[in-house]
Amino acid sequence: MRKIILSLLMTLAATIANAQTDDETLLFIYKNGGNFYAFNSFEIDSIVFAIDKKEDKEIVVQKIYTSKGVSRHPLETISRMEFIPIEKALSTCPDDNHPHAIDLGLPSGTKWACCNVGANVPEGYGGYYAWGETEEKEFYNDVTYLYGSGVDSGGDGWYDDYHENGLYGEWQDIGSDIAGTSYDVAHVTWGGSWCMPSLDQMKELLDNCSSS
Ligand SMILES: [Zn+2]
Repeated sequence: MRKIILSLLMTLAATIANAQTDDETLLFIYKNGGNFYAFNSFEIDSIVFAIDKKEDKEIVVQKIYTSKGVSRHPLETISRMEFIPIEKALSTCPDDNHPHAIDLGLPSGTKWACCNVGANVPEGYGGYYAWGETEEKEFYNDVTYLYGSGVDSGGDGWYDDYHENGLYGEWQDIGSDIAGTSYDVAHVTWGGSWCMPSLDQMKELLDNCSSS
């Protein structure tokens, strides 16, 4: 097992070294579940592999450091990695001024952004945002969540005060429909009529488009 991991690491190191000489590539990391992450290779400061302890098990984690932070991928969840020249990556954008509103010919006329909020290329995976929050942060837990309060007696970031409603901590109800409001990261970040998609809009996208 160790040998397999080492040879995989060496292959990855070789590909990474190759990428550092070529700015015009995107690094795609494909996960077992079919998701993928993409990084502009010139935004990557370093890629390291570290042993992390998960419960009692030791796992190898790939850490990709960029100017925005660190993206962690347990090696066992990665199915494939690939560097793809930017010109080969599918692009419908007329220039580099993302986000663009892309007309996919959907029945409702809804236009989708070419990239995720927090990404600066269409293939980028973008930012992580807690519900109703509009900024990324280092830790995502009860204590750092903007719309909750409570007592973290254990000091682990999670609230310990139990309430009659069955919840630990007290939580502000900001509503389930926050698109276009000050709780909507797309609207706050990009302004104008940009907003988070609704469930119906996501369904429409999936029903009318194919992906490859
Ligand atoms: Zn674009």
